[in-house]
Amino acid sequence: MEAEVRVSGRVRRPRVVVHPDRRVEVVVPPRSPRGTAERLLREHRGWIERQLARLAPRLVLREVSEAAGRREARALLTAVCEREAPRLGVRYARIRVADQRTRWGSCSQSGTLSFNWRLVLAPPGVLEYVAVHELCHLRVADHSRRFWALVERVRPGYREERRWLREHGHELLAYRPVTRP
Ligand SMILES: [Zn+2]
Repeated sequence: MEAEVRVSGRVRRPRVVVHPDRRVEVVVPPRSPRGTAERLLREHRGWIERQLARLAPRLVLREVSEAAGRREARALLTAVCEREAPRLGVRYARIRVADQRTRWGSCSQSGTLSFNWRLVLAPPGVLEYVAVHELCHLRVADHSRRFWALVERVRPGYREERRWLREHGHELLAYRPVTRP
């Protein structure tokens, strides 16, 4: 969860504020112990997510079962990775589609790309961005400037897609797939 931390002499105890523009802010008194903001965010995670969900314009998500969603996600992600990997000059070992509770994608040292099947509910460009993001990690492992410059070069419009994910990601994570096949 991304949050801004602000030190203020006007508060006696640390608190979390969720702003209408979806910014999450932790306000801590001066000389708070190290890690105070992180602890507060951890403890209030459920509450923060409920506040954000209330603010969010609700997406109308189509009905899909998890099995069908996973199949579709795998097909789409495979197509994007097969197309984009040569452009980036990288090779990946395999694609894994899972149901991570907090993340959209990851890239292991062995070259396995893992993706959240719920990306299939996002606009196609968002799924593509996540795939490109993970492929870029095969060239630059961290989120350094060099990494973002690379993402920008291969996917110039990625900021919009990243923003979409920040704004609506929790709705995808809260989505309950239909249970019938
Ligand atoms: Zn990353």
